[in-house]
Amino acid sequence: MRGARARVVVVGGGAAGMMAAIAAAGEGASVLLLEKTAQLGFKIAISGGGRCNLTNAESDVRALVSMYGGNGRFLQGALRAFTKDDLLELLAGRGIQTKVEAPYGKVFPTSDRASDVVAALEAELRDRGVEVRCHAPVCRIRVNAGTPGGSPGGAMALRSRVIGVELEGREVVGAAAVVVATGGRSCPRSGSTGDGYAMAAEVGHRVEPVWPSLVPLRVAGTRALSGVALRGIAGTAIVGGKLAGPRFEGDALFTHFGLSGPLVLQLSRAAASGLHRGLPVELRFDLLPLVPAEAVDRLIQDRCGAASRSLVSKILADFLPRSAAEVFLQSAGLSPERRCADVTRQERTALARALKSWSFAIEGWHSFDGAEVTAGGVAVAEIDPRTFASRKVDGLYFAGEVIDVDGYVGGYNLQAAWSTGWVAGRAAATQPGPV
Ligand SMILES: Cc1cc2nc3c(=O)[nH]c(=O)nc-3n(C[C@H](O)[C@H](O)[C@H](O)COP(=O)(O)OP(=O)(O)OC[C@H]3O[C@@H](n4cnc5c(N)ncnc54)[C@H](O)[C@@H]3O)c2cc1C
Repeated sequence: MRGARARVVVVGGGAAGMMAAIAAAGEGASVLLLEKTAQLGFKIAISGGGRCNLTNAESDVRALVSMYGGNGRFLQGALRAFTKDDLLELLAGRGIQTKVEAPYGKVFPTSDRASDVVAALEAELRDRGVEVRCHAPVCRIRVNAGTPGGSPGGAMALRSRVIGVELEGREVVGAAAVVVATGGRSCPRSGSTGDGYAMAAEVGHRVEPVWPSLVPLRVAGTRALSGVALRGIAGTAIVGGKLAGPRFEGDALFTHFGLSGPLVLQLSRAAASGLHRGLPVELRFDLLPLVPAEAVDRLIQDRCGAASRSLVSKILADFLPRSAAEVFLQSAGLSPERRCADVTRQERTALARALKSWSFAIEGWHSFDGAEVTAGGVAVAEIDPRTFASRKVDGLYFAGEVIDVDGYVGGYNLQAAWSTGWVAGRAAATQPGPV
């Protein structure tokens, strides 16, 4: 069945897709936004625990780029073209005020309601005349068979061009440009089930393997600690025996399968990447981040001296929850029945080491269901970072998490979606072609 036409069709109504549609419509293009589920911006609405950490206060683009790892440089142009200030201005125009939270510069709506952000974007789409269709799952990008075009070497090569998209049920929507903003595979209940990867591959794009990032981690032998929180600690990820990624501070939480909490999600980015590469991974927790390593032995000596008849587990109560003391002592090689007066120098050293570096061997990640982000995706080498246009198919663009770039916790992933969406949408609007 042949259906509608629009100059720009945006596939996926998440952060990247909504922003792409807003930007394309701002250039005067007729825009159709196709969303598979019943609603736009589901993931925005649940982000940041329902508060939406919509961007980060960091203004230095080089510092921002470092928060996306190896492929971060690919985002540099987009992060300059559509900055956090541009986002905040757009939202302020819709009455959304924001606040910055220390220590990591996370930006939230002052209302603490993520749904306000979704509503503001929906209003912007409406006012810019974007046609939105929900319950509209796209299954294929339609391209023509290939027309002669110049290749870098000067020889004539066949280049295919986008002519539209096909929806489930075989409806075809014609378009001069298509922006694929279907997200990754994380949190599939949001509608992001990796459809964009298959669409991209079908038209000749390389798709790098994907795995969950910013995800709880599986650890053996921690079931007894389920529900225990370690607050205000620091942690590092060790991959293949080497420090991987920065040291972060925050809270960790033991679950029935292993570890979660804000600190663990940060560390999981390096950890999951290591697991994906088949390397041994451990997390190390520093329970006393403000105490230098050389001072910890003295601290234990003082505490043991002041309470020599007590069990060691009792003096540990100052450093970690009581319910975690037994497992902690076992990990340091001490019996929970050990009294302070009997602790040997060797045991004290082991205790000090464990307090500064309580180590957990990571067995795996939890699942895409519990992951905030997907690592991997459409290969950046085949996307032009100035426009987010496909280097393979004319008129095709990518935006957001479907691309092989992912960031740490802190508003970086949403900012990547806003920036890439904006650049792709504007460029798509200028595509020559009928409509
Ligand atoms: C629980 C959770 C909390 C998070 N918190 C934060 C946070 O506080 N700050 C932050 O920066 N990041 C956060 N993130 C990550 C951030 O939400 C994502 O990186 C970002 O939303 C990705 O935007 P996107 O538009 O690329 O993809 P998505 O938001 O995944 O949107 C893709 C859209 O495409 C639609 N779609 C998929 N396939 C099709 C198809 N075939 N046809 C039509 N439509 C389709 C989907 O239904 C979906 O609506 C969080 C993620 C989760 C899961």
